[in-house]
Amino acid sequence: MAQTLDADVIVIGSGIGGLVTATQLAAKGASVIVLERYLIAGGSGGYFERNGYRFDVGASMIFGFGDRGTTNLLTRALAAVNMKMETIPDPVQIHYHLPNNLEIEVHRDYEQFIKELGDRFPHEREGIRKFYDECWKIFNCLNAIELLSLEEWRYLMRVFFQNPFACLGLAAYLPQNAGDIAKKYILDPELLQFIDMECYCWSVVPADRTPAINAGMVFSDRHYGGINYPVGGVGKIAEKLAEGLDKAGGEIRYGARVTQIIPKAKSGKGAIGVKLASGETLYAKKVVSNATRWDTFGNLLKDEPLPSGEKGWQSRYQKSPSFLSLHLGVEASAIPDDAACHHILLEDWNDMQKEQGTIFVSIPTLLDRSLAPEGHHIVHTFTPSWMSEWEGLSPSEYEAKKNEAARKLCDRLLAIFPKLEDCLDYQEVGTPRSHRRFLGRTDGTYGPIPAGKPLGLLGMPFNRTSIPDLYCVGDSTFPGQGLNAVAFSGFACGHLVASSLGLV
Ligand SMILES: Cc1cc2nc3c(=O)[nH]c(=O)nc-3n(C[C@H](O)[C@H](O)[C@H](O)COP(=O)(O)OP(=O)(O)OC[C@H]3O[C@@H](n4cnc5c(N)ncnc54)[C@H](O)[C@@H]3O)c2cc1C
Repeated sequence: MAQTLDADVIVIGSGIGGLVTATQLAAKGASVIVLERYLIAGGSGGYFERNGYRFDVGASMIFGFGDRGTTNLLTRALAAVNMKMETIPDPVQIHYHLPNNLEIEVHRDYEQFIKELGDRFPHEREGIRKFYDECWKIFNCLNAIELLSLEEWRYLMRVFFQNPFACLGLAAYLPQNAGDIAKKYILDPELLQFIDMECYCWSVVPADRTPAINAGMVFSDRHYGGINYPVGGVGKIAEKLAEGLDKAGGEIRYGARVTQIIPKAKSGKGAIGVKLASGETLYAKKVVSNATRWDTFGNLLKDEPLPSGEKGWQSRYQKSPSFLSLHLGVEASAIPDDAACHHILLEDWNDMQKEQGTIFVSIPTLLDRSLAPEGHHIVHTFTPSWMSEWEGLSPSEYEAKKNEAARKLCDRLLAIFPKLEDCLDYQEVGTPRSHRRFLGRTDGTYGPIPAGKPLGLLGMPFNRTSIPDLYCVGDSTFPGQGLNAVAFSGFACGHLVASSLGLV
């Protein structure tokens, strides 16, 4: 007997990937239900409030809010459901504080950045220019075409005939890594370490394991669309997308944890709906999972054999570490008014990839004062950390370990903000366990990283899965981590599903 359908599409999870998929589909006329296990939308792009501070859970350095080209995917995702956001331009993407007093600011202005880096490495001026200019070539190809699903042949044909040179350019870069391009032009080992850090701080792997396409996007868009902070905090992006979804006729349910994707009864091969922790069952023509692929296949389909495509992917990619996060509220006098919003700190190159090696710092109140009580700043500091470091501890051992880790992080931060220690007003520590608990991500992982040297982006899975009518979206699908990247994944997934429903 045919099931009564609750919607055309069920989306599991309201991270930015899930929300962009849902809004794209709703805007095209599909009926959509988003099921979110937590109390608010946004996932890693969400927020929490304590003592008058509004903290970003994770992301604070936001790409994709430009007003031109095609790579401004957050602007475009909001516009698709008649929403827009006010943002504040960030004049500096990152201020790096690296070993051997390597202090570099990545200015929004490309020439200013290239000059500053060239002044530090005068013998490599030409190589620096050639490397970053090649990244622009990749970006210009991406930015010339509509970014939709590479799995939909009619789109591929259309985009190829509209812009064959951009498509061929991208195809050539698809199997390449940023490190190979850097080494064509640059010899200085310290400068190559800097390029490693330029990649590591968003891909969590060095340049020779970072796909050239992603590097082209990040290293150019920061000077093109720029880094722009959403007024009211990063959580506002998900709030606006959820509002747009509602206005477009879609629905989002909170506290709705999916426990199982229901396979088609007879064949056992297709997805027809989901079961919730409440015991409720919902049916749809298509199911999209915004949970990570490990959670989708390891938890929501745990009674099904792991498809060979997923086995292959899991052997090529591994889970990246999670983060130890320190959310601080501090008196404003701790932070100079002219400090950059985002900082990277590393004292020894050998520690870049180690547990709690590289430190990331964001102070979004330098751009939007409304996020903290008057006269105060938010300082979000985080550093890679593995789940294995935090398991098997008694509650008191766990608390003690958190406090000790926070103290060490604060001590290291004094190198950039010497007054910090005397100005602390509020402190909250998140560990990989917090990321797993609140974001529903296995081991709290930040996402996939290649297990060995990848063939650029060629090994990343797209949205379709080997289970009919089941799709994945988010940072464990092409093109990977970051809000603008998962928005790309959402555009692609929305387009692919809409095409299979005959809506485009
Ligand atoms: C500390 C940190 C800092 C970061 N900094 C930046 C940055 O500065 N800039 C940037 O662009 N990116 C940054 N990122 C990365 C970026 O936040 C993520 O790549 C992106 O938000 C992931 O989005 P997603 O849609 O794939 O998944 P998620 O954000 O993980 O969302 C998935 C959603 O699905 C829900 N869910 C999962 N399972 C179920 C289930 N069974 N039932 C119902 N709901 C479920 C979850 O609750 C969650 O809301 C950062 C990430 C972290 C952790």
